[in-house]
This record gives sequence, C-alpha cells and structure tokens, in this order.
Amino acid sequence: MKLVRPNIVALTPYSSARTEFDGPGGIFLDANENSLGSPTGTAFNRYPDPLQKEVKRKIAEMEGCSPKNIFVGNGSDEAIDLLIRVFCRPGIDNIIVCPPTYGMYEVSAAINEAEVRFAPLTADFELDPAAIFKKADDRTRLVFLCSPNNPTGNSVDPQAVLRISRELYAVVVIDEAYIHFSSSGTLAGEIASQPNLVILRTFSKAWGLAGLRVGIALADERIVKVINKVKPPYNVSEAAQRELLAAIDNTVEVADMVAAIVKLRDRLAKSLAALNVVVRVYRSDANFLLVKMTDAVGAYRHLAADGIAVRDRSRVELCDGCLRITVGTKEENRRLVGSLERFEGQGSEDEKSAFHRP
Ligand SMILES: *Cc1c(COP(=O)(O)O)cnc(C)c1O
Repeated sequence: MKLVRPNIVALTPYSSARTEFDGPGGIFLDANENSLGSPTGTAFNRYPDPLQKEVKRKIAEMEGCSPKNIFVGNGSDEAIDLLIRVFCRPGIDNIIVCPPTYGMYEVSAAINEAEVRFAPLTADFELDPAAIFKKADDRTRLVFLCSPNNPTGNSVDPQAVLRISRELYAVVVIDEAYIHFSSSGTLAGEIASQPNLVILRTFSKAWGLAGLRVGIALADERIVKVINKVKPPYNVSEAAQRELLAAIDNTVEVADMVAAIVKLRDRLAKSLAALNVVVRVYRSDANFLLVKMTDAVGAYRHLAADGIAVRDRSRVELCDGCLRITVGTKEENRRLVGSLERFEGQGSEDEKSAFHRP
C-alpha cells in the first residue's frame, strides 16, 4: 500500500446518505429522492446501492472469491482510470504497457498525466519480461497486461505474467476482457498469493451487455478498498445492477453463446484464410480475428462501402497490414466473406488487365 498516492491514503471519501444510515429503515427521507415514484412503469426513484452488495454476492459465488475482492465499475474502463488515479502521482509516476494492446491504458494515463513506458510484445505477440524490467523504475506504479490480448487475439504465457508480478514492486493488472473465449484459464486464483495482481473483467464481451456498462476488478481487499474510496458513489446504475443480477442467473445461456461464437470464429478463420487478399489469419483466443491483408486499407474501404465496419489496425506496431474483425452472426460472416471475395475479384481483374496489357 506504499504504492498508493499519499493524498488518496489521506482522503476522506464522500459518505452517501444511505451508507451513513444504520437502522432497520423503511422510510427514507435522507437523500432528497422523489418519494412518490418515477414517471415510467419501473421505479428508479431511489439511489442505487453504492457498494453493489447484491451484485457482488452473486459474482463472488460465481468466481469462488469473497465479495471483498470485487470492485464493480461503470465498465472495466472505469477500473482502468481509477487504478491510475489511485496509484500514479500526476507528473511523477509511470505505467508500463505492452503494445500492440488495448488503447485505453495509454489514454487514461495521459488524462491523468502519468508517463507511459512501452515494452512491446515480441514478434509472436508474447510478453517480454526482460523489456518490462528494463523499463521499470522506482516510479513505476502499474503494468497493464492483456490476455487474450486486444488486438492480437492471443493469450500470453501465464508464467510470464506471474514472474512479472512476483519480481516487480508495482501493481500488475491483467485484463481478461476476452477470457471466456480462451482455452487458457483465468489468473484470478493467484490473487490470494500475489496481492499486487489485479484482474480486470467485463460484462461487455462474452456476456453480451456492452450497453449496460459493467466491468469488474478482482484484487486483494486492500486494493478494492482504496479504489472504492475514489470511485463516484453511484457509479453503477440501479438499472445496470438489476439487469446484471438477472444475467448472472442465465450463465447457461452465456456459455452457449460463447461456444457458438468460438465455433463461428474458427469457421470464419478458415473462410478468410482461403482468400487471396488474406495473407494470414492469426490464431485467436478471443471473439475477433487479427487478419493480415494484401491491402488492408483498400479492403477496409471496400467493406465500409458495403456497410461492413471492421477495425483498421494496419498502422499499429507489429500489426502492419492488419484488420481486426469481430466475429459476427453466421449471416454477417457470410456477408463479410462475400464482400471480400468481390474485393478480390476486382483486384485480380486489375492484375489480369495489367498482365494482358500489351
Ligand atoms: C472491450 C475491452 C475493454 C472494455 O471493457 P468495458 O467494460 O466495456 O469498459 C477492456 N479491456 C479490453 C482489452 C477490451 O478489449
């Protein structure tokens, strides 16, 4: 906890009306809510539980951990921002990221004036612990690792993650946004023995709830406590908490969707690999594919004109010539491949006409 910013250690957090009240309750005249109700059918006139106790109880059951090890945020993006604000003194401390990776670590750090140091992945998208150790100094507060990694799609070696968390005096964050699609397991079980490890999860990907904005951090109780101190009191809405409780009762449906997406992914990878405009489809442990194209920008524009949005990652370090393509429905994937076949047809006709030019 020596890593926490001194002003955060000293901070007296905002104390909400309902947190202060300690009685059987029933009549709530303490928070200036509208006591009569809401204008729509659903009652949202009360503030939500600031510590999301019911949600945490259910997540704890599901994860096999204590509710004390869970932070619930407005998307895992909120957890990323809060971790930087809790640990990095603006203009003084630094974080380490391993590009190519998720862009929010760097953006949140920039917003909070934390220096960003880069320890790129190796050519086969693995962690380079030696590079990380070289970049680290006594002002390194956080290291952001991502597995399965966005945008490369692969899981990184868990032994490397653990080695980094053991050898560095810093908080090591492992972003498991895509863990449900992966064949390798979570590192959540390591928190008990590695108190500087933070696991990020989101309900936006496998759970199909991106619009709800809920993400979690699993961490040592002391880290959860200090993040809770800094978070906005009502960071997860009542609507989100209710919907989430219902979703956690539907884990079978989530597992079915994940299995279906993994199947669609592997089929899409094969269809794409068969195209001449595709140089390489990288192995994916997530719900998207990183695809190296002969002409990524041309393909991107062609798809866009066909009404198909993919992510152009062609100017990203180690990803040159690559598009990142999310796995769609069967029909969407068929349309994608069809559009790329037409793109290929155009290209080869151009080549043919060039070839036959006298
Ligand atoms: C999508 C994504 C997130 C964002 O999650 P939210 O909970 O929607 O904020 C976090 N990390 C990675 C690596 C992602 O790809």
